[in-house]
Amino acid sequence: MTKLKPPVEKNTYYDVTFEDLTHDGAGVAKIEGFPIFVQNGLPDEKAKIKITKVKKGYGYGRLIELYEESRYRVDAPCPIYRECGGCQLQHVSYEGQLIAKQKQVQGVLTRIGKLQDVEVHPVLGMENPWRYRNKAQVPVADREGGLVAGFYQQRSHEIIDMEACLIQQEKNDMVVQTVKTICEKYGIQAYDEKNNKGVLRHIMARYGLVSGEVMVVLITRTKKIPNKDNIISDIIGRLPEVKSIVQNVNHKQTNVIFGDETNVLWGEEYIYDSIGDIRFAISARSFYQVNPEQTKVLYDKALEYAGLTGNETVIDAYCGIGTISLFLAQKAKKVYGVEIVPEAIEDAKRNAALNDIHNAEFAVGEAEVVIPNWYKNGVKADVIVVDPPRKGCDEALLQTILNMKPKKVVYVSCNPATLARDLRILEDGGYATTEVQPVDMFPHTVHCEAVAKLILK
Ligand code: SAH
Repeated sequence: MTKLKPPVEKNTYYDVTFEDLTHDGAGVAKIEGFPIFVQNGLPDEKAKIKITKVKKGYGYGRLIELYEESRYRVDAPCPIYRECGGCQLQHVSYEGQLIAKQKQVQGVLTRIGKLQDVEVHPVLGMENPWRYRNKAQVPVADREGGLVAGFYQQRSHEIIDMEACLIQQEKNDMVVQTVKTICEKYGIQAYDEKNNKGVLRHIMARYGLVSGEVMVVLITRTKKIPNKDNIISDIIGRLPEVKSIVQNVNHKQTNVIFGDETNVLWGEEYIYDSIGDIRFAISARSFYQVNPEQTKVLYDKALEYAGLTGNETVIDAYCGIGTISLFLAQKAKKVYGVEIVPEAIEDAKRNAALNDIHNAEFAVGEAEVVIPNWYKNGVKADVIVVDPPRKGCDEALLQTILNMKPKKVVYVSCNPATLARDLRILEDGGYATTEVQPVDMFPHTVHCEAVAKLILK
């Protein structure tokens, strides 16, 4: 098939109507069927656009003038919304965001998963969708003798100072500002990315919403922190809710945040928090869902889809610190959790003990390696829950599920596209996807979480 010549040229103007929103929040307009992606355009809006780039099968444009606004368009409340890029949907009302996310999940299930009539429920959103994040990771830079802590300006390495982030717990904003001021007072130099010099790279704050406990992590280039003892005593003096101060050393010239070495500088190695009836110890490097209120909603849905009666053997793949595992363990005979980060598995074991849960067993390793081994050794699950990172499940894991044939699979996903891809493989292997429930874990961003329920046909 020969590709048609693109019907548009760079630097020309068009009047268009946006038809759709991409997974990264751009408006989609079609000119003679040729898709043009335009930042800030919303479905049903009529606008004048300028073509900025033309590729083989699609192009990009810039919004020049809006003729007709979407009923879901609002003014972004955050003053740094455009510069920051951490949120992508603040110009859409919350109602509009939830509708867009449901459509997105439905769309990829049909397009990528070839699942025509799976029921995708309306997205479960938050009553108050602001100030929800329990973790802040803020880059630091030197500026005119002082420190700035904020965010990378979009498409640049410039760090912009930020006093408040509207999706961040206020406590975290306050902790970051205070730690920055203290480090400044003791003359700590910020990391200089270009020359790989300086000390402080990032300040991380983690807040237990239920416990009120705070962890501060200083991510530094060097192990030595000048005036370390003064900094610590100022932090604990000014922030009594801090229970743990941790250092992570990352000496590499990279934009990866964390290095391999983690040391407790003061207090506990972890902070505590609770979701529902279960208490969790969380250490600096472990994955812990960033929106605790919605995490409860998500896990309750996963538990409901698992439909446990108390006699089941369950596997929780990609278990992190054992959060879903321990939720499941209350209703199952036995739960096996597997996770690749050793510290997270240590946390998971501690969390089981902390909650007096004795029917959960945890292993460190790749789910796609550990679960086939369990299967070889006679472990046969009635229900498998998977909660993989954005890239989805490894094929070897999906194949093991198809061999093991659990009656149910519950798929918790933070990326609808890989969810759709993996559901297709499970469908082809004998499972039916009966329903999908998106849960809004990340209001005002394009990120979209969903739980799918599959049963063995
Ligand atoms: N279910 C947990 C964690 C989900 S995030 C929760 O809700 O908190 C995904 C987890 O998968 C992360 O903890 C990550 O470290 C882990 N992971 C990534 N690749 C993996 C693999 N191949 N095998 C096992 N775990 C993996």
